[in-house]
Amino acid sequence: LPPMNSFERLLEDNKAWAAAQVKEDPDFFSRLENLQTPEFLWIGCSDSRVPANEITNTKPGEIFVHRNVANLVVNGDINLLSVLQYSVEVLKVKHIIVVGHYGCGGIQAAMTNKSFGVLNNWLRNIKDVYRLHQAEVDALPTVEEKNSRMTELNVYEQVLNLAKTGIVQSAWKNEQRPYLHGWVYSLKNGILKSIL
Ligand code: ZN
Repeated sequence: LPPMNSFERLLEDNKAWAAAQVKEDPDFFSRLENLQTPEFLWIGCSDSRVPANEITNTKPGEIFVHRNVANLVVNGDINLLSVLQYSVEVLKVKHIIVVGHYGCGGIQAAMTNKSFGVLNNWLRNIKDVYRLHQAEVDALPTVEEKNSRMTELNVYEQVLNLAKTGIVQSAWKNEQRPYLHGWVYSLKNGILKSIL
Protein backbone atom coordinates (compact mmCIF):
# COMPACT_ATOMS: atom_id res chain seq x y z
CA LEU A 1 0.00 0.00 0.00
CA PRO A 2 1.21 3.55 -0.75
CA PRO A 3 1.75 5.75 2.31
CA MET A 4 -1.36 7.68 3.27
CA ASN A 5 -1.66 11.19 4.58
CA SER A 6 -3.41 11.41 7.93
CA PHE A 7 -6.46 13.10 6.43
CA GLU A 8 -6.73 10.40 3.75
CA ARG A 9 -6.84 7.82 6.50
CA LEU A 10 -10.00 9.50 7.82
CA LEU A 11 -11.74 9.05 4.46
CA GLU A 12 -10.59 5.44 4.17
CA ASP A 13 -11.67 4.61 7.72
CA ASN A 14 -15.02 6.25 7.03
CA LYS A 15 -15.65 3.86 4.14
CA ALA A 16 -14.77 0.89 6.31
CA TRP A 17 -17.00 2.17 9.13
CA ALA A 18 -20.00 2.72 6.82
CA ALA A 19 -19.60 -0.79 5.38
CA ALA A 20 -19.39 -2.31 8.86
CA GLN A 21 -22.57 -0.52 9.98
CA VAL A 22 -24.53 -1.86 7.01
CA LYS A 23 -23.17 -5.35 7.54
CA GLU A 24 -24.34 -5.31 11.15
CA ASP A 25 -27.65 -3.55 10.48
CA PRO A 26 -28.78 -3.16 6.84
CA ASP A 27 -31.34 -0.45 7.76
CA PHE A 28 -28.90 1.62 9.84
CA PHE A 29 -28.59 4.58 7.47
CA SER A 30 -32.11 4.59 6.05
CA ARG A 31 -33.53 4.67 9.56
CA LEU A 32 -31.23 7.52 10.65
CA GLU A 33 -31.82 9.47 7.47
CA ASN A 34 -35.54 9.60 8.09
CA LEU A 35 -35.61 10.15 11.82
CA GLN A 36 -33.63 12.18 14.34
CA THR A 37 -35.07 11.84 17.85
CA PRO A 38 -32.23 12.24 20.33
CA GLU A 39 -33.22 12.33 23.99
CA PHE A 40 -30.14 14.29 25.03
CA LEU A 41 -28.41 17.57 24.28
CA TRP A 42 -24.73 17.38 25.22
CA ILE A 43 -22.84 20.61 25.83
CA GLY A 44 -19.22 19.60 26.13
CA CYS A 45 -15.65 20.78 25.63
CA SER A 46 -14.07 20.76 22.16
CA ASP A 47 -11.18 18.73 23.61
CA SER A 48 -10.54 15.78 21.26
CA ARG A 49 -10.26 13.41 24.22
CA VAL A 50 -13.89 13.84 25.27
CA PRO A 51 -16.05 12.55 22.37
CA ALA A 52 -19.71 12.39 23.47
CA ASN A 53 -20.81 9.24 21.64
CA GLU A 54 -17.68 7.24 22.30
CA ILE A 55 -17.46 7.74 26.07
CA THR A 56 -21.18 7.05 26.57
CA ASN A 57 -21.20 4.11 24.16
CA THR A 58 -24.05 5.67 22.18
CA LYS A 59 -24.73 5.63 18.45
CA PRO A 60 -25.37 8.34 15.85
CA GLY A 61 -28.87 9.71 16.40
CA GLU A 62 -28.83 9.35 20.18
CA ILE A 63 -27.15 12.59 21.33
CA PHE A 64 -27.43 16.11 19.89
CA VAL A 65 -24.01 17.65 20.47
CA HIS A 66 -22.64 21.15 20.93
CA ARG A 67 -19.00 21.64 21.88
CA ASN A 68 -16.88 24.70 22.56
CA VAL A 69 -13.76 25.54 24.55
CA ALA A 70 -14.48 24.69 28.21
CA ASN A 71 -18.20 23.84 27.65
CA LEU A 72 -19.53 27.34 28.26
CA VAL A 73 -23.13 28.54 28.11
CA VAL A 74 -22.71 32.19 27.23
CA ASN A 75 -25.72 34.45 26.99
CA GLY A 76 -25.55 36.05 23.54
CA ASP A 77 -23.68 33.14 21.94
CA ILE A 78 -25.94 32.76 18.92
CA ASN A 79 -24.35 29.43 18.03
CA LEU A 80 -25.16 27.80 21.38
CA LEU A 81 -28.58 29.47 21.63
CA SER A 82 -29.52 28.19 18.16
CA VAL A 83 -28.52 24.64 19.10
CA LEU A 84 -30.40 24.99 22.39
CA GLN A 85 -33.57 26.30 20.78
CA TYR A 86 -33.59 23.67 18.05
CA SER A 87 -32.98 20.79 20.45
CA VAL A 88 -35.55 21.95 23.02
CA GLU A 89 -38.32 23.20 20.73
CA VAL A 90 -38.01 20.95 17.67
CA LEU A 91 -36.21 17.79 18.80
CA LYS A 92 -37.81 18.03 22.25
CA VAL A 93 -34.85 16.60 24.14
CA LYS A 94 -35.63 15.39 27.66
CA HIS A 95 -32.20 16.06 29.15
CA ILE A 96 -29.48 18.68 28.70
CA ILE A 97 -26.09 17.69 30.05
CA VAL A 98 -23.19 20.10 30.53
CA VAL A 99 -20.02 18.04 30.53
CA GLY A 100 -16.71 19.42 31.76
CA HIS A 101 -13.49 17.48 32.17
CA TYR A 102 -10.56 17.53 34.56
CA GLY A 103 -7.35 18.69 32.91
CA CYS A 104 -9.26 21.15 30.71
CA GLY A 105 -6.89 23.48 28.83
CA GLY A 106 -9.52 26.21 28.78
CA ILE A 107 -9.81 26.20 32.57
CA GLN A 108 -6.03 26.06 32.97
CA ALA A 109 -5.55 29.01 30.59
CA ALA A 110 -8.24 31.08 32.33
CA MET A 111 -6.56 30.52 35.69
CA THR A 112 -3.37 32.24 34.50
CA ASN A 113 -2.68 35.87 33.70
CA LYS A 114 -1.23 35.03 30.27
CA SER A 115 -2.61 36.47 27.07
CA PHE A 116 -4.10 34.10 24.48
CA GLY A 117 -5.26 36.54 21.83
CA VAL A 118 -8.89 36.33 20.79
CA LEU A 119 -9.39 33.43 23.22
CA ASN A 120 -9.08 35.94 26.09
CA ASN A 121 -12.61 37.13 25.38
CA TRP A 122 -13.95 33.60 25.73
CA LEU A 123 -11.89 32.80 28.84
CA ARG A 124 -13.31 35.85 30.61
CA ASN A 125 -16.45 33.80 31.22
CA ILE A 126 -14.36 31.31 33.23
CA LYS A 127 -12.65 34.14 35.10
CA ASP A 128 -16.15 35.24 36.15
CA VAL A 129 -16.77 31.75 37.55
CA TYR A 130 -13.53 32.07 39.53
CA ARG A 131 -14.54 35.51 40.84
CA LEU A 132 -17.83 34.05 42.14
CA HIS A 133 -16.04 31.22 43.99
CA GLN A 134 -12.68 32.83 44.68
CA ALA A 135 -12.59 32.17 48.45
CA GLU A 136 -13.22 28.44 48.03
CA VAL A 137 -10.80 28.00 45.13
CA ASP A 138 -8.00 30.08 46.70
CA ALA A 139 -8.17 27.92 49.84
CA LEU A 140 -7.10 24.81 47.89
CA PRO A 141 -3.38 24.03 48.25
CA THR A 142 -2.24 23.11 44.71
CA VAL A 143 -2.78 24.45 41.20
CA GLU A 144 -4.13 21.04 40.15
CA GLU A 145 -6.70 21.02 42.93
CA LYS A 146 -7.71 24.61 42.15
CA ASN A 147 -8.18 23.76 38.46
CA SER A 148 -10.11 20.57 39.23
CA ARG A 149 -12.49 22.41 41.54
CA MET A 150 -12.81 25.17 38.94
CA THR A 151 -13.81 22.51 36.38
CA GLU A 152 -16.67 21.43 38.67
CA LEU A 153 -17.70 24.99 39.56
CA ASN A 154 -17.64 25.94 35.88
CA VAL A 155 -20.05 23.12 35.03
CA TYR A 156 -22.28 24.20 37.91
CA GLU A 157 -22.36 27.83 36.71
CA GLN A 158 -23.00 26.84 33.10
CA VAL A 159 -26.00 24.74 34.19
CA LEU A 160 -27.31 27.84 36.01
CA ASN A 161 -26.74 29.86 32.83
CA LEU A 162 -28.80 27.30 30.91
CA ALA A 163 -31.61 27.54 33.46
CA LYS A 164 -31.73 31.31 32.99
CA THR A 165 -32.27 31.19 29.22
CA GLY A 166 -35.72 32.05 27.91
CA ILE A 167 -35.69 28.82 25.90
CA VAL A 168 -35.36 26.61 28.99
CA GLN A 169 -37.65 28.83 31.09
CA SER A 170 -40.54 28.58 28.63
CA ALA A 171 -40.04 24.82 28.15
CA TRP A 172 -40.21 24.40 31.93
CA LYS A 173 -43.35 26.49 32.11
CA ASN A 174 -45.15 24.62 29.35
CA GLU A 175 -43.81 21.07 29.38
CA GLN A 176 -41.91 20.30 32.64
CA ARG A 177 -38.88 19.59 30.49
CA PRO A 178 -35.89 19.49 30.00
CA TYR A 179 -33.97 18.14 32.98
CA LEU A 180 -30.57 19.80 33.41
CA HIS A 181 -27.48 17.90 34.48
CA GLY A 182 -23.83 18.69 35.22
CA TRP A 183 -21.17 16.04 34.73
CA VAL A 184 -17.39 16.00 34.92
CA TYR A 185 -15.29 13.53 32.94
CA SER A 186 -11.95 12.15 34.10
CA LEU A 187 -9.26 11.78 31.44
CA LYS A 188 -7.40 9.53 33.90
CA ASN A 189 -10.00 6.74 34.15
CA GLY A 190 -12.70 7.56 31.56
CA ILE A 191 -15.43 7.91 34.20
CA LEU A 192 -18.22 10.52 34.06
CA LYS A 193 -19.18 11.87 37.47
CA SER A 194 -22.54 13.53 38.11
CA ILE A 195 -22.14 16.69 40.18
CA LEU A 196 -25.53 18.31 39.62
ZN1 ZN B 1 -11.52 21.24 27.87
